[in-house]
Amino acid sequence: MSEEKPQTPPMTIANSEQEWLDEQVRRTIWTGPWNKFIDLVDLIYNWGRRNSIWPLGFGLACCAIEMICTSATRFDIARFGMELFRGTPRQADLMLVSGTVTKKMAPAVVRLYNQMAEPKYVVAMGACASGGGPFKEGYNVVSGVDKLVPVDVYIPGCPPTPQALLYGLMQLQKKIDKQSIRDAAWYRKGVSEGVPEPILGPDLIDARRLDEITALSADPEKLAARAVKLATKGKKE
Ligand code: SF4
Repeated sequence: MSEEKPQTPPMTIANSEQEWLDEQVRRTIWTGPWNKFIDLVDLIYNWGRRNSIWPLGFGLACCAIEMICTSATRFDIARFGMELFRGTPRQADLMLVSGTVTKKMAPAVVRLYNQMAEPKYVVAMGACASGGGPFKEGYNVVSGVDKLVPVDVYIPGCPPTPQALLYGLMQLQKKIDKQSIRDAAWYRKGVSEGVPEPILGPDLIDARRLDEITALSADPEKLAARAVKLATKGKKE
């Protein structure tokens, strides 16, 4: 595999100091290769975004207590520019899922996520938000918020300490640093669709799998086989 080498502009001999200066500017910054200019825009843009992330102020369970104390004076979340917990999703760009996501709460979590403006991020704080935690496979609990919305950073712990939360937020900052307007989802052409809200009935129904569920329920044999598969899942033969 051969790597494509960056193209350098041809050398020119400067006749004066002004010409030399113009040449340096042309070669290095403004009129250099288009990629360099985009890199510069990315650098400034990401620097601004990483230091002004506004989290959505909502908590789901005990992890929320740790999130609240992280925003208090002792831990000084303001040094990251993240102290402005917003009361509305339209002013927030970070969803800190701090606690157990119950099936009853799932449609509201997805609705709030859809109402947040792009670019937006999700941090799963604690064992419950990451994978169901102590309540995994419970009849009323979603086994991880990533079943509903895309998650950027997972923070382990039950509950994670404020230091762990801050570390997770620093990982999010690193992720933002690597983003580019070239491939960021929110700059792609076309309208970005929101995540369909799950439907809460006798159980939680993922609207994205509605066709699959309808087809399955129309075939009793397949449905029975699926029920057996689920019932024996994880059990040793
Ligand atoms: S991970 Fe532990 S502390 Fe956090 S919400 Fe679940 S049970 Fe509570």
